Amino acid sequence: MTDPIEGDVSGEDAGTSFEVLIVGAGPAGTAAAITLARAGVNVAVIDKAKFPRDKTCGDGLTADALRILERLGLEPRSVATWQDADTCWIRSPSGNTTPFRMPRGRGLFMATAQRIDLDSALVDLAREAGASILDGHGLSTVTQNRHGVVAEVEGLGTVKANYVIGADGMWSPLRKALSGSNDSSTDADTGDKYLGEWHAFRQYFSNVSDAAATDLWIYFEADLVPGYFWSFPLPDGRANVGFGIQRTSETRTKDMKVLWKDLLDRPHIRELLGPDAIPEDTHRAWPIPARVERMVPSDGRALFVGDALGACDVMSGEGIAQALATGIAAAQAILDHSTPTEVANAYDKAATHELLADHRMSSLLVSGLSSERGANMAIAIASYNDWTRRNFARWLFEDYPRALIATPRRWKRGAVSKPGAYRDR
Ligand SMILES: Cc1cc2nc3c(=O)[nH]c(=O)nc-3n(C[C@H](O)[C@H](O)[C@H](O)COP(=O)(O)OP(=O)(O)OC[C@H]3O[C@@H](n4cnc5c(N)ncnc54)[C@H](O)[C@@H]3O)c2cc1C
Repeated sequence: MTDPIEGDVSGEDAGTSFEVLIVGAGPAGTAAAITLARAGVNVAVIDKAKFPRDKTCGDGLTADALRILERLGLEPRSVATWQDADTCWIRSPSGNTTPFRMPRGRGLFMATAQRIDLDSALVDLAREAGASILDGHGLSTVTQNRHGVVAEVEGLGTVKANYVIGADGMWSPLRKALSGSNDSSTDADTGDKYLGEWHAFRQYFSNVSDAAATDLWIYFEADLVPGYFWSFPLPDGRANVGFGIQRTSETRTKDMKVLWKDLLDRPHIRELLGPDAIPEDTHRAWPIPARVERMVPSDGRALFVGDALGACDVMSGEGIAQALATGIAAAQAILDHSTPTEVANAYDKAATHELLADHRMSSLLVSGLSSERGANMAIAIASYNDWTRRNFARWLFEDYPRALIATPRRWKRGAVSKPGAYRDR
């Protein structure tokens, strides 16, 4: 870690100074803040939103996410809408529905929690760890020079830091402000505006059937593959219901609105949600960036994490585990190294090391699931017997073993039979 910045970073008004400034208080930003603050670093997190704030999401937590949340010290009981789950039902395009059950008595492998509550609990943890949480303050602009980073922040004025972590989501205003040639808002191949690899809709429902209030349901609909419809359970008879599709230049959000209505009218979906299900508010849609192989992890003293790094899984669209992991990796690089070049190199290596193999394996799987026939076949193979069902479930909910076959460096005893999280509860 370099010395705390001196007052002359900009050569003008001293402003407020921190060793590390984090932009964005989602899972990526708070994981970084908790790690840094616990190591005694003077760290601030700004977010343009006031917490608690909602985030359009499926609210599903994979085994990887759960293990990291446990390591960070998050207590499930501090999250009002937390719900443990142990069974995920998968429906093939041909209509076969198979239960995939997680190992029993070995900890938690999947759970759900509304993001408005989960993210607030993480913000509280970061505050308790000693981070300054400055919510309701958005980043306007930022520059960097050889002494550090100088940010202009709404309502705060000039904020200076040694390092800045961009945990500011899919559109990353930080990346945009610094970008130049690294700008990710335009697709380099087509020149089109970049809108994410996936686009997903979400709506909460109350009064859902017992089945929807207890288990996770994933339906591979013939007209959505490799995308899918989901219903994930929440406490008090509620569910997070939505669908995601791969984004192409022809995808129009208007068509997705029509598709959403059509999906909710399909007999098997109506049956799953039950006759008394009540939609809450309106649906919300948001893009999902899953292009870590094309993103630059750092730019000088700026490190990008989570959605700002395009770190979501390209097969499932999940990104909370990746956000937490990259947030911690960025913090660790800052803690372990003393010059900006060393920090950037260490973080670039850590980010690509962990994410690229999984990304490549998921990309392969996406091509297998992209046709109705392929999806039927994949689910039939996974449903073949108890062993395939058990292992497919783990494999689906853990990024880590998904690419295990392609990464010999991870072939260690116990790599495929790691316990779940929160075993002591
Ligand atoms: C519909 C949908 C369903 C999904 N379902 C799942 C799921 O079930 N499981 C899963 O693991 N993942 C899921 N994901 C992906 C997951 O939501 C993201 O990968 C995850 O939220 C990324 O976390 P993050 O911390 O990188 O970014 P975010 O959670 O997006 O946080 C970014 C923060 O930056 C702040 N910010 C933005 N601009 C500024 C600015 N100028 N100044 C200051 N702050 C700023 C925002 O207010 C926000 O709080 C889903 C995504 C979508 C769209």
